Amino acid sequence: MSDAAFLAATEDHVRIVREARHIVRQILADNTDLSGNEVLCHLDELVAEASAEAKRVATELVEESACRHCGHSIMRVGDSTWRHDAAMPMSRGCRAASFDRDGTWDDSLDRAWKATPPKGRR
Ligand SMILES: [Zn+2]
Repeated sequence: MSDAAFLAATEDHVRIVREARHIVRQILADNTDLSGNEVLCHLDELVAEASAEAKRVATELVEESACRHCGHSIMRVGDSTWRHDAAMPMSRGCRAASFDRDGTWDDSLDRAWKATPPKGRR
């Protein structure tokens, strides 16, 4: 992990803990006598609701296809550029994606090829 990624993760953790404290405080505001386990049950319900919402949004916004050049799966979120979804960092280039996927360059793939859906799709 780079220093910048470590810093961002540390700051994310602070934000998450603050948010958790805020949510627990809201749960307890309605009933100050809840046990720890009852608070956890409320949190489980909130996680289930948020997960369902995230799944719904992903279904709505994520588009998947197969690359016209290399045939591997590609995806995009909304109007973002198409990327190969084999592995992080989800490369645009077909040859770069072969390295993400296999750990070695597929030299049969043209260096200029980028993730592109079949003709007729934009
Ligand atoms: Zn490709």
